[in-house]
Amino acid sequence: MSTTAQLKPTANIGLPLDIVETISANLANFDLHKPAEHDNARIVAGIVVKTYVLAQLQAHENELDANARSILNAYADDFVTFDDLQSNEQQLIQSFPALLDSHITVYKFLAAVFDRTPFASYLTPALFRRVLGKEAGNAFGIWQYPVFIESECLGSSIYPAPSFFNHACEHNIEKRRQGRKMEFVTTRDIDADQELYISYGMFEDLEVHERQKMLFEQWHFKCGCPKCERQLKEIAA
Ligand SMILES: [Zn+2]
Repeated sequence: MSTTAQLKPTANIGLPLDIVETISANLANFDLHKPAEHDNARIVAGIVVKTYVLAQLQAHENELDANARSILNAYADDFVTFDDLQSNEQQLIQSFPALLDSHITVYKFLAAVFDRTPFASYLTPALFRRVLGKEAGNAFGIWQYPVFIESECLGSSIYPAPSFFNHACEHNIEKRRQGRKMEFVTTRDIDADQELYISYGMFEDLEVHERQKMLFEQWHFKCGCPKCERQLKEIAA
């Protein structure tokens, strides 16, 4: 049997014009030079704004209409799930020490951009580190379709709940992007109580050691999936 689970993107909330104008004026004076730093700034900025919106909704919980209440519930659920994700900050900085300077640059940039806005107090070093530590290894790539080995990665997005899918070198579900939605579809029959696995990359046909090296370098874990265990045993025999 094939099943499909759908995940809705979180609703967008418009910002008051005066805040947008302050941010635009701030942006005119500061910039980042590397695309990766822009990406990181965008990720952290998104969470800072959502943290602010969540705090505002929670502060006025008794006055919310049904639409605002549904946004509050969706945000609150996403944040709880996001907080439970593993942070890979230490492994990331150890593997790429230059990232430390880069992250400091991004932090200073965001502090300058949020200056004189309500978001400034929500951008803290703790939140910044938490977001980028959890983004590493948990974000999903958004790939050009159809996906093949030379497809271009258009960006990445954090979908907190499906980040809990573990990897296996023989996956039994796969992600499919539908616009801003991500669907997870079974690729084979699955027994009751069997764990659902996705593949973290397109390298299932590689030799086991090469595959494990890629998984360790990019996702910081030693793969112990049934396929790896079976192939490592065959080599040792
Ligand atoms: Zn494996």
